[in-house]
Amino acid sequence: MARVHNYFAGPAALPLEALKAAQEELLDFRGTGMSVMEISHRSKEFDELHNETISLFKELSGLGDNFKVLLLQGGASLQFAMVPMNFLSEGKSADYILTGAWSKKAIKEAKILGNTRVAGTTEKDGIFSSIPKQEDLDLDNNAVYCHVTSNNTIFGTQWRSFPDTGSVPLVGDMSSDILSRRFDTSRFGVIYAGAQKNLGPSGVTIVAIREDMMEKANEGLLTLLNYKTHIDKNSLFNTPPCFAIYMVNLSLKWVKERGGLDAMEKENNEKAKLIYGTIDGNKDFFRCPIEPESRSFMNVVFRLPNEDLEKKFIEDGKNAGFIGLKGHRSVGGIRVSIYNANTLDSVKDVVEFMKNFATSNG
Ligand code: PMP
Repeated sequence: MARVHNYFAGPAALPLEALKAAQEELLDFRGTGMSVMEISHRSKEFDELHNETISLFKELSGLGDNFKVLLLQGGASLQFAMVPMNFLSEGKSADYILTGAWSKKAIKEAKILGNTRVAGTTEKDGIFSSIPKQEDLDLDNNAVYCHVTSNNTIFGTQWRSFPDTGSVPLVGDMSSDILSRRFDTSRFGVIYAGAQKNLGPSGVTIVAIREDMMEKANEGLLTLLNYKTHIDKNSLFNTPPCFAIYMVNLSLKWVKERGGLDAMEKENNEKAKLIYGTIDGNKDFFRCPIEPESRSFMNVVFRLPNEDLEKKFIEDGKNAGFIGLKGHRSVGGIRVSIYNANTLDSVKDVVEFMKNFATSNG
């Protein structure tokens, strides 16, 4: 069996150990004699798995007891709508910091539902090469929340530390860096993330809601789009994505076995340093278009001297077993997505490939 070095941006690499565990119990989940895909979501066995997954996520992410963790469907994209639907009330306004294509989509939905302000952006001709500085933000002290995209998967930028919004709760789309590093969760009212980058496969979205947010939540919403429904029913109002939740469970266990969030963060820093170090150490060949203090530790984007060389880099990479190195179609270039499951050893191999490519093509 030849496993490749998988650098797709999402769905992305899963921990090999999690995949093997799933393979092992595919036909017989925890002694039930059935696959986890075949058992009732109302069974004792599934209930245990479901609750264990929620507790593990809370424990590993360092969320306080005042957070409710939901396992929903519809991807992060549905959260673009559910957040304003539930919290942006009549006569109030929400702040959004525009840092890339995904924030833009979040703003589009919020604008349909209520008053929305862009409280800061670094957009220039459709390009985002940095994260706004605190002093450049125009924050509304009365906003119901301030939305940030913690890591911009396409442009390759990341908030190194989150903006100070005073008493206004942050809402974070953390789809591409959830569980990759420690941060002060107490400043967030809502955190959401599609699982398919750092937590598991696609099909399930984790949403963490601070309890006090629900005191101000809108009423009279459609049942399935109302957070209260999912809180009251522990995300089991309707049939959940059982297999996706199961894979998240195995991925979380893998994180825990490897030392939890701090161990993940340490290794993620090391991986990012290796690649950025290679880019900066070969400046006549590689160029990172992102300002150093805004660089993403999850999606490293860079350019080569010309597009023909970029094509060759992607092609040669593929032949050498490095898959998914192509930058997002809207920006071009190269993108190496280094999520939790992308191992340090594999990143060392990528870096070796980069150096050799620069030497033979420079
Ligand atoms: N936000 C970010 C930061 C993303 O990277 C993505 C997907 N790549 C999304 C939102 C959309 O997620 P989904 O496809 O789960 O709706």
